[in-house]
Amino acid sequence: MDWNRMMEDQPVVMTMLKQSMEKDRLAHAYIFEGMRGAGKKHAAWLTARSLFCPYRENAAPCGECRECRRIEHGNHPDIIVVEPDGASIKKAQVEALQKEMTYKGMETSFKIYIINDADRMTAGAANSLLKFLEEPESPILALLLTENVHFMLDTILSRAQKLSFAPPAPEKRARFYREEGASETAAPLLARLPDEAAGDYQGEATDWIVQGRALVIQLVEEVHSRPHQVLLTLQEKWLAHFKDREELDIGLDLLLFWYRDLLTVKHNGQDLAYPDQRETMENQGLQMPETEIARILQLILDAKRKLRANVNAQLLMEHLLLRLQEGS
Ligand SMILES: [Zn+2]
Repeated sequence: MDWNRMMEDQPVVMTMLKQSMEKDRLAHAYIFEGMRGAGKKHAAWLTARSLFCPYRENAAPCGECRECRRIEHGNHPDIIVVEPDGASIKKAQVEALQKEMTYKGMETSFKIYIINDADRMTAGAANSLLKFLEEPESPILALLLTENVHFMLDTILSRAQKLSFAPPAPEKRARFYREEGASETAAPLLARLPDEAAGDYQGEATDWIVQGRALVIQLVEEVHSRPHQVLLTLQEKWLAHFKDREELDIGLDLLLFWYRDLLTVKHNGQDLAYPDQRETMENQGLQMPETEIARILQLILDAKRKLRANVNAQLLMEHLLLRLQEGS
């Protein structure tokens, strides 16, 4: 939770927050929207620290005083966090929040509440919050965080100031997933998957990604050097691991990342989805002209498109793997 790092990662958002704090002109409600890993939570907690830290300088919290440390450890009485209880944020949760907010501040007259995944409020919860946003009873700052701002009610959007976080670069997203507990091999892959897919496979579920990754490495090796093996691996392993359309789509993404990495390696790029496979890729890349890699990328993208159009998944994969071999 470093102010300067946040300033570098999200200069627009952080400058706006900084200036509003310095001029004492914060809005009473903000929506922090942007991709997973963009730093919305960090920004929310830094804002909270800045507002409570008595030693802040140019809006940056000192990070060392009692207030800063209490906030870092998540036990400041005047900061309340709400997040989904199961799949959604329920009306009772918002009502409980409202109640807590109307108590007088324990030590100051100021309170902050942070709602994580605010788009997951039920209609009832959103409507309760709406009344609350309309008539703040005491000095209160609301920070609503979301990856899916398009799912939020217009009535809420119109009562809050929206700050859009820039999408983080893959390396920064990978750092985020590592901080969330993903392994060294899983993090760069999660960083490249769409949010909604990556979200399902972080934490304890990363094993599934790691196993899928091993399958991609095996399959690619077979496509280019042991083609007679490919259909067997498809049958026995690939289709057993990537079971439905959604999972197969992720499988195709993982395959796509491999060939994208090949191009990156050919151009001496650094940011890889499979960083520990660089040597294998250098050998493979040597034998494969750029036009061939481009052809393969196009085939995988076509397969992803057809998958959405409901074609038979097994036939689709067989067809793709046969076409991949044509060039080699
Ligand atoms: Zn401080």
